Amino acid sequence: MVVINAVIGFLQEGKAEKALEGIRKMLSVSAHVRREGDWVEENAENLVPGDIVRLRSGDRVPADIRLLEAVSLSIEESALTGESLPAEKNQDPVEPDAGLGDRHGMAFSGTMVTAGRGTGVVTATGSETEIGRISTMISEVETLATPLTRQMDRFGKILSAVIVVMAVAMWFAGRMLHDYTTGELFLSSIGFAVAAIPEGLPAVLTITLALGVQRMASRNAITRKLNAVETLGSVTVICSDKTGTLTKNEMTVKHAVVRRAVYDVSGSGYQPEGHITLDGNPAALDGEEGLRDLVEIMAVCNDSHISQEDGFWKVTGEPTEGALRTFAAKAGFDPAAYERKAVIPFESENKFMATLNSTPDGKTVILVKGAPDRLLDRCGTQAADGGKKEPLDRRFWEAKIEELSGRGLRVLAAARKEADDGKNGLKHGDIEADLTFIGLAGIIDPPRPEAVEAVALCRTAGIGVKMITGDHAGTASAIGREMGIGNGGRTATGDELEKASDEELRELVREVDIFARTSPEHKLRLVRALQANGEVVAMTGDGVNDAPALKRADVGIAMGIKGTEATKEAADIVLADDNFSTIERAVEEGRTIYDNLRKAIIFILPTNGAEAFVILAAVAFGLVLPITPVQILWVNMVTAVTLALALAFEPAEPGVMKRPPRDPAASILGGNFLWRIAFVSLLVGGAAIGVFLFEKRIGMPLDLARTLAVNTLVFGQIFYLFNCRYLDESSISAGRLFANRAVWMTTGILLVLQLVFVYAPFMNTWFGSAPLLARHWLIPLSIGCAVFLAVEAEKALTRRWSGR
Ligand code: ATP
Repeated sequence: MVVINAVIGFLQEGKAEKALEGIRKMLSVSAHVRREGDWVEENAENLVPGDIVRLRSGDRVPADIRLLEAVSLSIEESALTGESLPAEKNQDPVEPDAGLGDRHGMAFSGTMVTAGRGTGVVTATGSETEIGRISTMISEVETLATPLTRQMDRFGKILSAVIVVMAVAMWFAGRMLHDYTTGELFLSSIGFAVAAIPEGLPAVLTITLALGVQRMASRNAITRKLNAVETLGSVTVICSDKTGTLTKNEMTVKHAVVRRAVYDVSGSGYQPEGHITLDGNPAALDGEEGLRDLVEIMAVCNDSHISQEDGFWKVTGEPTEGALRTFAAKAGFDPAAYERKAVIPFESENKFMATLNSTPDGKTVILVKGAPDRLLDRCGTQAADGGKKEPLDRRFWEAKIEELSGRGLRVLAAARKEADDGKNGLKHGDIEADLTFIGLAGIIDPPRPEAVEAVALCRTAGIGVKMITGDHAGTASAIGREMGIGNGGRTATGDELEKASDEELRELVREVDIFARTSPEHKLRLVRALQANGEVVAMTGDGVNDAPALKRADVGIAMGIKGTEATKEAADIVLADDNFSTIERAVEEGRTIYDNLRKAIIFILPTNGAEAFVILAAVAFGLVLPITPVQILWVNMVTAVTLALALAFEPAEPGVMKRPPRDPAASILGGNFLWRIAFVSLLVGGAAIGVFLFEKRIGMPLDLARTLAVNTLVFGQIFYLFNCRYLDESSISAGRLFANRAVWMTTGILLVLQLVFVYAPFMNTWFGSAPLLARHWLIPLSIGCAVFLAVEAEKALTRRWSGR
């Protein structure tokens, strides 16, 4: 029996580990590679030498790569060189015998891009790479454990020690109180130890955890660190990005504003079909000088592509840029003849992008697009009629920005500056001042309807939702209003966060739910302030600079689609679909897993409690053992592998998102669960002894009385399983009794096993069981019912006492 128990435990652990491995595979490193002329995302393991790949800040370099182009590219190579400062990369030749750290024309597999971007050709993959040579495989090994299961492991060990001591004590007590023979005492001490130690518990907990994590993955929340599963249940605040998480990230330009006019743009999505109109009349680029300049910047200072696939238009690159690309296409503008000489890529800190271009008519210009406030700060003039400039009318533009963003539109501005013809490079200094402001584009990015619902659900679950966005305050509060975040309250900006002391920040995060124009480093301070207020914080992120905040948060959540490898590595959970509602579901699932672990514990322990009680009472009162050690092992095995497993499949309790977050410091079981374990142990154990004594008294043979006692225990557990499906809520209702198919299946399996136990001749020989008559079955059946009703009554009383 012990061997069978061990084998089953081993198989279950194996299955659990397989489940986790499958989930880990979902997180393999991806690469941007050129295939059939298009940039596509591909698993790094599918790269071959000769592939052209693209690197962005936050990427893990997917192979060894010779750089063809590098723009402000720096890469952290400490894994390879031990040098913790990022190395600057460029495409210049190096000495033939340059060391690894000096080969600045190469990017090495496994290192992390910290800034800039580049493209290159793959020179080596897999074990041929530099990192592959020094270590065949860098793999993260994580044991299948969480604080709860580790705590249970410790508890199990202590419990086992206590039980062994008690067994020895029982030996002496039995010897002194009654005249048992050594053989009898030996058997009952072993029986007691076997009865009291919950052999099946670790395996059941592991499989419950693994199944839960698998279920979470199937709902798009991929767990990287198992601890998070538990922490999710205690989360009190979720800090979420806006773009793509709360909103759809399907951007469409709706309005274009220049000094003299406000244009409307029709059409939706990235399909380049729609019209640009001025007061209802079609507007053409030829006649509208300001519009032409605006479209030129938005289209040329842009890295996205739109293409049609299976009838759908999709964007490669950033959706914001895709929207501007579509806008330019609607206007009939073709940027092909513009040659790009240099670029300052978009970074969340800067909130703009700039390019140096030569135009088709031979001029050299700097084109800038980005957050309007950042661009206004850099402009001294604005475009006037006839290609002239006039002093910047900041008030005018600010009013327009307020108006557009107040409607929830994302506003992007465009500015330009003439440059000398010979100019080749572009530095931040070139665009610090003296730009000419051209105009604005208002982009719609509708909220995800399911995220609106999820925000409301979080509220009932006692979880606050905060929006932290790089976008403009007006846009953020308008979207917040639509989503039910912030209750129309104040919106704080990155500047305010910058100025606030740590103390003031703690106050601010209590009052404010929307933070706009933030930079990634603000996230870290916000997490700290929230944690200082005693909150348990879940924080989302996508960019490379979000990684420290994700690490610091109690649950770091990375975006699977938009997110960089660096963020994913820092995260506890990765969202496969970038969707806020997935976070809400993950919280629900996390709470459910924790519940199910607790259910498994309070289901299994009374089995042991009851059995131990039977043996103890027998020895104390000098009785013949009502069940033998092998029979006890049988009961432990069948209930742990069948019944308890059913609880791993238990769906969420109906009120799971209506109760407040769990106090992380509270103990797993708590007073009333300990009480329930004791109560059920005495109830079922007492019933088994009662049945045994009664049957003995009316002259039933010993093996038959024992068989009945075993069945009493088993039926008590079967009925108690239905109690355990709801921790404190009532289990009595048809809907609830039939909700989990696994429970009925395992009950069926258990009944078959019990029939074999009772009627199969070989089982009679092995286990000392005996065939029962049909009417005998009524006894365990009615005792089971009584146990069920008694526990329900106990739950009802506890509910009443605790005021629920
Ligand atoms: P969130 O932080 O919620 O994802 P976000 O996407 O608005 O919001 P960022 O990506 O940091 O945050 O963008 C901040 C601002 O930078 C935007 O509001 C926009 O004005 C500007 N911006 C965004 N993308 C680009 C781009 N590709 N080129 C130039 N400016 C951009």
